[in-house]
Amino acid sequence: MESLLESHPSAWPEIFKELGVPSFHGKIAARWVFQRGATSWQEMTDLPASLREMLEAQTPLQRARLVDKSEARDGAVKVLLAMEDDATVEAVGMPGTDGRTLCLSTQVGCAVKCGFCASGMEGLSRNLTQGEILEQVLWLRRAQGAFQRIVVMGMGEAGHNLDAVLGALDVLLDDTGFGLSARRITLSTVGPKNALPRIAAWGRPVNMALSLHAPDDLLRQQLVPGVANRTIAETLAEADELFVAHGREYTVEYVLLAGVNDSPEQAEALASLLFRRRCHVNLIPFNPVPELDYARPESMVQEDFAKRLRERGLSVTLRRSLGRESDAACGQLRRRSLPTDDLRTEV
Ligand code: SAH
Repeated sequence: MESLLESHPSAWPEIFKELGVPSFHGKIAARWVFQRGATSWQEMTDLPASLREMLEAQTPLQRARLVDKSEARDGAVKVLLAMEDDATVEAVGMPGTDGRTLCLSTQVGCAVKCGFCASGMEGLSRNLTQGEILEQVLWLRRAQGAFQRIVVMGMGEAGHNLDAVLGALDVLLDDTGFGLSARRITLSTVGPKNALPRIAAWGRPVNMALSLHAPDDLLRQQLVPGVANRTIAETLAEADELFVAHGREYTVEYVLLAGVNDSPEQAEALASLLFRRRCHVNLIPFNPVPELDYARPESMVQEDFAKRLRERGLSVTLRRSLGRESDAACGQLRRRSLPTDDLRTEV
């Protein structure tokens, strides 16, 4: 039987009824999982022992296994989880001044193949299911304690797996699930065809981050080949529509790559592009990936780039890199643990 995590908790009573047990046990079970952090049926001591055993045998709650773990000096803990078919994904818990943030993966690998990102180097293996996305949350909470924020910024392109991603977010947001406020969730995407309009139509006002990385179409096509068929203008127009729908400013993410997209002229071009748009710019200095030739610009170049945007009236943050010492860039822990043969085929 598929994991109960594949179903919204409001449907659990009905599922229990179909299993031939009183539906109110479904409500109790959902509370155990989402509010009290249970990761096995056995823990739910107010459910009948026979029911717990039946569920444990038929539909275990925790199906992922821990394969690897790395911890950075700043406290960011990244885990590599193997799903039932042995596909592996990363998830990260990051401490911060205002609480713990969990970073979730949405796919095994990624089809977008951004030139500077480790996640897409082997291409896409498969989408994660809603339950597999939620399992990352349960895992990290069990291992590290309560969390205050979710960022969907791990491996994978959320816009290529929206059914599962929005399903998981519905569970995170709903009071019968984790009960998290939309303000505390950030969804990051390169903006594939139909993704941003669909998120706008879904209507929950989560924070949106758009990975842009270039101020002109030609360079973006090179850096973000998976959306080479989309122009920056149409992508930003869709993001602007999100502001109309959600009333919330979006974030433009821009990975700073030395000698590629960090020149003063490119800063000016980016400023012109974003002038009067309801967005905030997040500059992310490149996190080195051993197999890739890109380099992180000098601090002075990073700061000059940020300053030029600010002088043109934009709100800008220059991201400090959490977990940089510990295979922090997306996909690196996974690559470290893949058999070397797999790596060679793609490099
Ligand atoms: N697929 C989503 C989530 C990716 S991870 C997206 O593209 O938005 C979140 C951010 O980290 C993205 O902006 C991504 O481009 C960026 N990123 C990926 N690899 C990086 C690296 N090596 N150094 C710095 N940022 C990186």
